[in-house]
Amino acid sequence: MTLSSSIEPYLRESRESETLLINQMSQLMESQKKTIYKFGFGQSPFPVPQHVVSAMAEASYRKEYMAVQGHQALREAIANFHNSEEEQGWFAEDVIIGVGSKVLLYCIMAAFTKTEILIPAPSWVSYAPQAELAGHNIHWLQTSFENKWKITPDNILAACKNINKSTPKLLILNYPSNPTGQTYSSAELESFVEILRGNNVLVIADEIYGFLQFEGKSSHIEDYYPEGVLVTSGLSKWCGAGGWRLGYVHVPTQLSELKKRIIGLASETYSCAASPVQIAATKAYENIPAAKDFLSKQKKALRHIAEFACYSLQEAGVDVHMAEGGFYLFPDFLAFAEKLKHSGITSSQALTQKIMQDIGVALLPGTAFGMPASSLTARLAFVDFDGAALLNDHSDEIHLQKLKTGLKWLCHWAKNL
Ligand code: PLP
Repeated sequence: MTLSSSIEPYLRESRESETLLINQMSQLMESQKKTIYKFGFGQSPFPVPQHVVSAMAEASYRKEYMAVQGHQALREAIANFHNSEEEQGWFAEDVIIGVGSKVLLYCIMAAFTKTEILIPAPSWVSYAPQAELAGHNIHWLQTSFENKWKITPDNILAACKNINKSTPKLLILNYPSNPTGQTYSSAELESFVEILRGNNVLVIADEIYGFLQFEGKSSHIEDYYPEGVLVTSGLSKWCGAGGWRLGYVHVPTQLSELKKRIIGLASETYSCAASPVQIAATKAYENIPAAKDFLSKQKKALRHIAEFACYSLQEAGVDVHMAEGGFYLFPDFLAFAEKLKHSGITSSQALTQKIMQDIGVALLPGTAFGMPASSLTARLAFVDFDGAALLNDHSDEIHLQKLKTGLKWLCHWAKNL
């Protein structure tokens, strides 16, 4: 038996191929001193707030393992933050801390024996690979531009139709969404619940961009389906701390068996999140006025940039919906399909490669997010700017110059197809 035949098939074929090519092209063009507009990678452009950085520095001597479920003070601070800011009814004992929410998403899936995972298309790149690694079956729920890339009750019904009603199923909902920037209203979320209950579907509500919803109060599906929803979130997006690896999941009391299994998986894999990070994260969630101030500044800047990007693209004839939160737009170049076809471009991968080659604008192809190969969609992460400088002196014209130039190039490219 060869090593390759004994490796899990998913790991044998690298799924990174879709984004790899863009990265390679980007590196090559940078080495040729060409300007690259980095709208591919979705990392927060904002700095971790100073009081949280100081808390981390002060706690750097902490070396002990912490409880697998997470530092008690942090779990309390998180529950309190959600209760006061989002009017949720969380208790610290229902919160589990992990090294980022990504590993917790995997632990939730791995806690189930082979089951059925319902994933909207488009959605975040890692849900499907994680579901595969955990040995589950995947059911894609295809959405459309007309429906703002959001699922409907009919999508859920259609996916459940061919699966035994009593088989436990998991639906992953992410709002505001990576890659579309769209979120769900309370009425939309409430409309799913009867079907979810009736078909034994639990929900993972990935609310990692939840605090970055630009306007109004966020809606939560757990308000309508408290016994069936696990909520994941963390420091990575709202606190600009992706590399600190701090995430959490709230598991409702009704799913205490599942909670035990997730903690068991955490115990046998990562043991606990880093102690200094947990101490610093406690400060981030405890200091609610500072968090609110930081969030309102970020949201104002992000909304301004999203508006500029969205309206410029729309003016150029590209179909795109204004983002409601987070860092992303999901433009659809379908209106240019005929013209693109003449240049031999009939897929999102070919589209993003051509854009990169022609004007140095890096986007990720829609296929990386579960869209069909023929879709002419792409994800645009509007984060190629210095967030610290922007928050400090508000000189949009200086700090957003590169980002706006990249967007203008993209619009010019589309208009001249
Ligand atoms: N969910 C979505 C939609 C994301 O975009 C990300 C990160 O990019 C994650 C989850 C994972 O976040 P983390 O593991 O940093 O908490």
